[in-house]
Amino acid sequence: MIEHYTEAIVLDKEGIGETDSRIFLYTETMGKIVAKAKSARKITSKLSAHLEPLTWSAIRLIKNKDWQITDALRQHRLNNKQFLGIFRLIKDISPIEHADPWLWQLLKTLYENRYSADTASLAILKISGFDPKHANCHNCSHQQPEHFLLNSAKYICHNCWSASGMIEPTFKLLTR
Ligand SMILES: [Zn+2]
Repeated sequence: MIEHYTEAIVLDKEGIGETDSRIFLYTETMGKIVAKAKSARKITSKLSAHLEPLTWSAIRLIKNKDWQITDALRQHRLNNKQFLGIFRLIKDISPIEHADPWLWQLLKTLYENRYSADTASLAILKISGFDPKHANCHNCSHQQPEHFLLNSAKYICHNCWSASGMIEPTFKLLTR
């Protein structure tokens, strides 16, 4: 059994079964970690408030077959819900347990409130390999698309986005 103690940013959380949760963490030394939190959804769970997306927590984990969170203590929290979509994107595209020092540094700056949500989100897209500079609309190839689809990780122009019914959350590129 391995025990690991780390500072981590909670990217997202999903329910498993009746009361357990799957927590997606981002850490400095291991990158993305997927860990189980038992009974985290029970109303009485002392852990749940420390494992909400956008939270920065000190976390204790053990590994048998899979990682399991045994303790968590919240240090900071981002109040800007604009980051939920971009955090989910990081969860979707980051390889498991592969550290990316640049991404970690960038995520850290979000908690220092040094940049606006738009500037920070754009920087995260660039660092994740989605630089909008040479992007075309995925649908019609129009240059300089205005939106980035956060679930499918594709650029799309404003016309195509409007025509799609605007169901999927996007990050809107304001300045080019
Ligand atoms: Zn288009």
